[in-house]
Amino acid sequence: MKPSIFGYQAPTTLDEAISLLAGDPDAAVLAGGQTLLPAMNFRAANPSLLVDIQHIDGLRSIVVGAEAIVVKAMVRHREFELDADVRRVNPLIAEVMQHVAHIPIRNRGTVVGSLCHADPSAEMPLLLVLLGGSVIVQGLSGSREIAAEKFFQSFLTTARSHDEIVVEARFPLLPPMAGWAFDEVTRRHGDYAVVGVGCVLSLDESSRASGVRLAACGIADRPVRLKEAETVLNGTALGTSDLDAAVAASMAAVTQPDDINVSASYRRRALGTLIRRMVAKAAQRAQMAEVAS
Ligand SMILES: Cc1cc2nc3c(=O)[nH]c(=O)nc-3n(C[C@H](O)[C@H](O)[C@H](O)COP(=O)(O)OP(=O)(O)OC[C@H]3O[C@@H](n4cnc5c(N)ncnc54)[C@H](O)[C@@H]3O)c2cc1C
Repeated sequence: MKPSIFGYQAPTTLDEAISLLAGDPDAAVLAGGQTLLPAMNFRAANPSLLVDIQHIDGLRSIVVGAEAIVVKAMVRHREFELDADVRRVNPLIAEVMQHVAHIPIRNRGTVVGSLCHADPSAEMPLLLVLLGGSVIVQGLSGSREIAAEKFFQSFLTTARSHDEIVVEARFPLLPPMAGWAFDEVTRRHGDYAVVGVGCVLSLDESSRASGVRLAACGIADRPVRLKEAETVLNGTALGTSDLDAAVAASMAAVTQPDDINVSASYRRRALGTLIRRMVAKAAQRAQMAEVAS
């Protein structure tokens, strides 16, 4: 199919882009186009106007700061994945990025575009929630910061207002000596996750877990922090019974119903398996970091 008739504007300033969005309730931001353009071709999206943000200055940088990595709106997935400084301060990011689509799509698609699309099975929203990051949005009334857990509101829906552009995302650095892990169950490599789980944790002097963070995608209408499981695991030696308890505490987080791909009970089993594996892998990496220090 071909898209409906639409207008196209390529502003060179953020103010111009915001005014264009504010002037047309059916206008849409165009970033890498890897989701929006296929949706338009299927007529699942019918914007009257595309506001292409790729010619706006200042939207292409990745800056590693003291507390977070700041990724501007036009940074492509592949740039984020391959950035040497990002790999050094937060190797979890590259581990997650390998699962986002295929390289040609990662060459064009943007990190922030993926966050704005807010697919509950996508990896980047999970990563932002897992790390406790945020986005900065800018609109007619100025800019504001929105925490990841507030930004993702439901299926393909965020807290961004129509006239706002997400200008950057902030991914916190990993705590020193932390262990980390991400993996997913998927039908084919490069597909969206059926279920994905990420984990970050530290170990104290007696090898007990602290600062456990767990998040999952593909189990609800948005990425979910598994806070009950985190509480169960903090302070434990991460033994089999601790992991059993964490898995049991996570099952209620699966609210995605059966669909054409898998049943809800399959998602629960996949979630349990991934939690066990990701916690074990993160703990192993935390131990290795301790040995190497
Ligand atoms: C075959 C295929 C497989 C894929 N597999 C995966 C996968 O496994 N995991 C995954 O996470 N993704 C996957 N994707 C999607 C890919 O990651 C996209 O790049 C990403 O979702 C959107 O990024 P984009 O820059 O292309 O955004 P666009 O397509 O340009 O925009 C997506 C949406 O976000 C809005 N938007 C974009 N940028 C902004 C902004 N700065 N401010 C406000 N609104 C904005 C747009 O208006 C639109 O609604 C896949 C895509 C394809 C085609």
